[in-house]
Amino acid sequence: MADIKAVLEKLKIASSNKGLSTGQKFWDGAAGTLISWSPVDGQQIADVTIAGESDYNQLVDSAVAAFKEWRLVPAPRRGEIVRQIGDSLRGHKQDLGILVSYEMGKSLQEGLGEVQEMIDICDFAVGLSRQLYGLTMHSERTDHRMYEQWHPLGVVGIISAFNFPVAVWSWNAMLAWVCGNVCIWKPSEKTPLTALACQHIVAEIFEKNNLPEGLSCLLTGDSNAGKWLSADHRVALISATGSTRMGRQVAETVAKRLGKSLLELGGNNAIIITPSADLKVAIPAVVFGAVGTAGQRCTSTRRLIIHKDVYEEVKTRLVKAYSQLRIGNPLDGKNHVGPLIDQQSVQQYEVAATAVKEQGGSFLIEPQKLQGLGFESGCYVAPCIAEVENHFPIVQHETFAPVLYLIQYDSLDEAIALQNDVPQGLSSAIFTLNIREAERYLSASGSDCGIANVNIGTSGAEIGGAFGGEKETGGGRESGSDAWKAYMRRQTNTINYGSVLPLAQGIKFEI
Ligand code: NAD
Repeated sequence: MADIKAVLEKLKIASSNKGLSTGQKFWDGAAGTLISWSPVDGQQIADVTIAGESDYNQLVDSAVAAFKEWRLVPAPRRGEIVRQIGDSLRGHKQDLGILVSYEMGKSLQEGLGEVQEMIDICDFAVGLSRQLYGLTMHSERTDHRMYEQWHPLGVVGIISAFNFPVAVWSWNAMLAWVCGNVCIWKPSEKTPLTALACQHIVAEIFEKNNLPEGLSCLLTGDSNAGKWLSADHRVALISATGSTRMGRQVAETVAKRLGKSLLELGGNNAIIITPSADLKVAIPAVVFGAVGTAGQRCTSTRRLIIHKDVYEEVKTRLVKAYSQLRIGNPLDGKNHVGPLIDQQSVQQYEVAATAVKEQGGSFLIEPQKLQGLGFESGCYVAPCIAEVENHFPIVQHETFAPVLYLIQYDSLDEAIALQNDVPQGLSSAIFTLNIREAERYLSASGSDCGIANVNIGTSGAEIGGAFGGEKETGGGRESGSDAWKAYMRRQTNTINYGSVLPLAQGIKFEI
């Protein structure tokens, strides 16, 4: 298994670290120290200092100054810097993947996959840097031309969650940079070291290219740091990923100052299994969706809506599949399921289990906190499956743990209604070989989620598509397609190249 000490050294993580940075410059924050514990083995990895308000102001001043320069650099040249960051990430993939796995607890394969996502978004952003297209329009007035341009916004504040500790930042930062913005990153207080490692990687590239301090700022801190960002009128866009509770607070604060926000919040994702579903494909998709990252993906499969004719068979196959799951150290490639992020998450899993029983559900596979050799961190739980009804309050709520709910249906209309009848609207899927069912599911009267799939599960999105969801998921879109537009301001330009002044709508104004 990995030599963590060597990995930390290669990523420039010491046992005590400066948590504030504007690029090449790193300094100690004034508000104390944050310790990063690994949920894998309960060991302290390292500590890092966190921002006081004066540190925060220093970061923002530096970012505001850097923006004045960076916005003037041609977009393809900005893309070239992001290309170099992508290359550097390729070189650091193994080490960063290991650190993601050790600090957050996801399997090494998923840790490496997360770094691959960072590399992929760099490639995407490089191409995008030559494609920040605006439209041209025909003017209704003679000798006039109209077109639109996309300009950089300014300072982009990125607030990220623990479960994708580095990919979410890269989705935002790489796009924001090619669009001409500067970034301040407030990572999760549960995963500060992966963020620090990324800051070292980009700082080296910025230094090599003689770029100013302030393009990439690291704001290590707790929720207070996120609150400072949200309330600050100097921050043009807040892109926040995390719980719906956090998103509501950020949305309110940013709206109060009429700023822009991009919100990526909780999900409560369902898969519908129809009578024609190919269960050879469906069952692995369900199991990966429900237990991958120990159920701590925003796109994790939480509800399985199964047609009554195949309900018993799906249950039997799931029980068999779950009996083969190996739970343990995620850095060991033989294990499928690692720990939850911390003991507080284990408590939430236990609270959910009690609520299922109190509200009338029953467990097909019982919940269990694991103890003993290999589970000393106290963060390991067994993935469980419960039979429930969709309206139970606990089923309506996102529990960030490997708890899968089974619900039975009779008609497709009923299945779609059940799927959509939750407050969240992130990811969804149907397994069917019936083209009418598939198309109905993808139609305006089908899934109400931002992501709707056919014959693949709810988790594991590609960077090429716009990522995000509706309702309490927040409505934001990141990553591919035209998500870049959220990081720019649109300007409509009308030019009169004639010698008279015709007014729009034929209005006459003579003086
Ligand atoms: P969290 O809401 O506890 O914290 C997320 C971030 O917000 C952290 O950096 C935290 O310090 C900060 N924060 C907390 N309160 C804040 C406030 N009032 N103002 C400003 N910042 C604040 O979430 P978490 O436990 O780290 O992550 C799990 C949640 O994230 C789940 O609900 C999951 O579904 C969601 N998530 C969503 C997506 C998506 O793309 N939709 C992706 C990943 C995670």
